[in-house]
Amino acid sequence: MAVHVANEKRRDTPAAGPLDPARLRADFPILAATVRGNPLVYLDNAATTQKPRAVIDAIARYYTEYNANVHRGVHYLSQIATQAYDEARRKAAAFLGATVDCEVIFTRGATESINLVAHSYGRQRVLPGDEILITGMEHHSNIVPWQILCKETGATLRVVPVDDDGNLVMEEFDRLLNEHTRLVAVTHVSNALGTVNPIRDIAARAHAVGAAVLVDGAQSAPHMPVNVRELGCDFFVCSGHKMYGPTGIGLLYGRAELLDAMPPYQSGGDMILSVTFEKTIYGRLPSKFEAGTPHIEGAVGLAAALDYLNAVGLGAIAAYERSLLRYAESALRVVPGLRLMGAPRKRAGVIAFTMDAAHPHDISQVLDEAGVAIRAGHHCAQPVMQRFGVPASARASFALYNTREDVDALVQALHEVNRIFA
Ligand code: PLP
Repeated sequence: MAVHVANEKRRDTPAAGPLDPARLRADFPILAATVRGNPLVYLDNAATTQKPRAVIDAIARYYTEYNANVHRGVHYLSQIATQAYDEARRKAAAFLGATVDCEVIFTRGATESINLVAHSYGRQRVLPGDEILITGMEHHSNIVPWQILCKETGATLRVVPVDDDGNLVMEEFDRLLNEHTRLVAVTHVSNALGTVNPIRDIAARAHAVGAAVLVDGAQSAPHMPVNVRELGCDFFVCSGHKMYGPTGIGLLYGRAELLDAMPPYQSGGDMILSVTFEKTIYGRLPSKFEAGTPHIEGAVGLAAALDYLNAVGLGAIAAYERSLLRYAESALRVVPGLRLMGAPRKRAGVIAFTMDAAHPHDISQVLDEAGVAIRAGHHCAQPVMQRFGVPASARASFALYNTREDVDALVQALHEVNRIFA
């Protein structure tokens, strides 16, 4: 029999309170895996997080109990699926602090959310002579769409530089911001450095010259409480798979007034009120931006992930991960020949480094032999690598289930890198 999961009390979500990583680890089946004979130490969470049983079960329940298309049927299963899909949006809106549910659009991820804004808002609002202001620590997905927009519209892309510690040079931000700035697109947390940017301040200054503000929250939403109204941003984007949810689903928050005035990004079924060969009347928010059958399974899984995050508590996650990062920073400093990339005033989620003895790819290969999963490369942030004069870095990135033992395993494997290569 079909079960309506939307308001179902989850048995396997943790109770709110101080974060107990040992208990939380048991919620993630994959963390019991061994890799090449060693217990898995998963430190590639900025790329994607592992999924708790609650998310896996929610997706399985959708397919075993109420799989149907949404918004299209009066039959029972379609009603239940539609309810679950709408409930997922309600949860996402509450999670981000949106004023109304329709300010949240489901997309494929942060990348598509940024592309939606660049295509729709950008092509409507950006004119020759306008400027788009980004920063030197953006992920490629918050660079390339703006480059393309500038090329098409005759606008200019400006870039706020990054200092040696990995902080934005705010004096330069002030210098570059002017009445021609149409949009400021800035990452909340850098995926290459871990820097937490002062978004509230940036948004206030941008609004003072009449610019809109898009915040790339791909690396902040999993790690700290986010409230788009407190941040003061106009758009906020994030990816479900980096927040313990499934791949292929992401969120775009946009202020209703802006979304309302924006033209559709894609077109077809589900995004219309009426169609004749002469004229189409577009649907209202949020359907105007969700053409075609949506990622229902993704929305259901993401809703379960948000429930999970809320139950653990974003404040508790932020505090726990902060202390784990401090522990990791001092543990890594004792590895001979290891250089941390940047020392940002405020860091979340990520620590990147290079070693004298070995290229990041060799480092990650040796670590893999020990069951330690990190990432090596440019992390889709090549301008950051250029800024720090390296082709690539090794990056350990953390989640709520990582422990000091994980950090110790990382450090031990890095000593092995030195033993092999130095
Ligand atoms: N922005 C940042 C800061 C990221 O770290 C990433 C992914 O690593 C993205 C955007 C793109 O996310 P997705 O590939 O899920 O669209």
